[in-house]
Amino acid sequence: MYDIQQIRTDFPILNRTVYGKPLVYLDNGATTQKPRQVVETIMGEYYNTNANVHRGVHFLSQQATELHESSRETVRRFINARSTNEIVFTRGTTESINLLAATFCQSQMQAGDEVIISTMEHHSNIVPWQLQAMQRGIVLRVIPMDDEGNLLQDEYEHLFSPKTKLVSIAHVSNVLGTVNPVREMIAAAHAHGVPVLVDGAQSIPHMPVDVQALDADFYVFSGHKVYGPTGVGVLYGKEDLLDKLPPYQGGGEMIQHVSFERTTFNELPFKFEAGTPDYIGTTGLAKALDYVSALGMDVIAAYEHELTQYALRRLEEIPDMRIFGQAPERGGVISFLVGRIHHFDMGTLLDRLGIAVRTGHHCAQPLMARLGIEGTVRASFGLYNTKEEVDALVAGIDRVRRMFLNS
Ligand code: PMP
Repeated sequence: MYDIQQIRTDFPILNRTVYGKPLVYLDNGATTQKPRQVVETIMGEYYNTNANVHRGVHFLSQQATELHESSRETVRRFINARSTNEIVFTRGTTESINLLAATFCQSQMQAGDEVIISTMEHHSNIVPWQLQAMQRGIVLRVIPMDDEGNLLQDEYEHLFSPKTKLVSIAHVSNVLGTVNPVREMIAAAHAHGVPVLVDGAQSIPHMPVDVQALDADFYVFSGHKVYGPTGVGVLYGKEDLLDKLPPYQGGGEMIQHVSFERTTFNELPFKFEAGTPDYIGTTGLAKALDYVSALGMDVIAAYEHELTQYALRRLEEIPDMRIFGQAPERGGVISFLVGRIHHFDMGTLLDRLGIAVRTGHHCAQPLMARLGIEGTVRASFGLYNTKEEVDALVAGIDRVRRMFLNS
């Protein structure tokens, strides 16, 4: 039983008003709200267990270290990695991709070698590769898509060459909602001997993910999009692949021994974790993963699927509605434009009705160029959203539409 009203009581912010209206929070693609359980865990650790991890012999440091390392185990279990050595804590998706781009390109690629990405990538999965292109002369190849927002699998197959060294693609598009067939795309890449990085920023909060079943070589996500705190995220990598990569940053914890002549590096995963980690953030993230696991990721997925189908049906009733992204497999992200109303005007007026949506290019300007638009309005759902909130969105859009009709 999915008791939505009970679940909503775990998220105090959902009770607040904005401009005197009840908050309708539909910007979960950007960040999610935090349940009491997560916030209280973070507060509890600051009040009771705060001490720097890994380096202390004293009681508090050991307890903080245990919490931090058991959070790594929680993440391992959540995505079904083989070992905690494969779980590297980072600041988020963006840092995870930058870490991988820098270390992979430095050690595994030469000028002229190619990375395949797709038309629908977030800037965080474009720009890190472009930085490497500038520094090392690697080349980006881009999988095209059709008008519905499906990546063209035949074209993908044709992009492989002996110079292809990595594929890096989003599991779920943060604009179109498309759920890419990553398992098949990974198998296709493996047939060419090429490893795959999956950007899971928009999938981890919404569906069960099993990195072994997908056979993903690398998988990255952010804590704050899965009901956890900001500033903490994950890079999963197969151990043998992570082992081949050099450290990313230098500093505390990533070393085994330092002398001025020669420094040796720590084992996985610490090799990639220079400096004091966000050990409070990792405890908060683990609590968030426990929270969604207790509800059941498959249950959350089914609930959000029904909500999204309902929202699509209702939104399509609005005259002059254009929805971007009609892939058969889609998540709870809906991008749209209504008539000639600018996305920014729509977002601003909805905000006045208490409805929080995102407007603009959603950090996917190349995708906007492909769609021939500058931006969209985007509603994105989380596990606590309701049909009543969808109704409020639809009524709000219709009200704005009528205002523009009459002006
Ligand atoms: N990739 C995708 C698909 C995203 O939606 C986002 C966040 N909008 C990111 C990467 C970047 O995530 P973060 O800002 O948490 O690093």
